[in-house]
Amino acid sequence: MTMVYKCNNCGSAATPVTTQKGNMKLQIFLWFFFIIPGLFYSMWRETTKQAVCGVCGANEIKSKQVMSDYKPARPLPAGASGPNSSNNFSTTYSTRH
Ligand SMILES: [Zn+2]
Repeated sequence: MTMVYKCNNCGSAATPVTTQKGNMKLQIFLWFFFIIPGLFYSMWRETTKQAVCGVCGANEIKSKQVMSDYKPARPLPAGASGPNSSNNFSTTYSTRH
């Protein structure tokens, strides 16, 4: 299975990149001086994580699964289990009786 991404904004088949809102320097500052606000700020930034287009930065990436290598598994037709099928049958028959 292959994941194919398409940006609804620019139409490119771009690989999504993960971005976060907020400021890393402010996050470090808050961590350094105020441990608890820094923790909450980090948690808030985690919630804003999103996949955006690697070309235009729009967060309109849609993904869909493409079954590129998919081959349907065909069940064996009845009676095509090989020359041993009759053998197996007689064995089962004899053990039952
Ligand atoms: Zn785009």
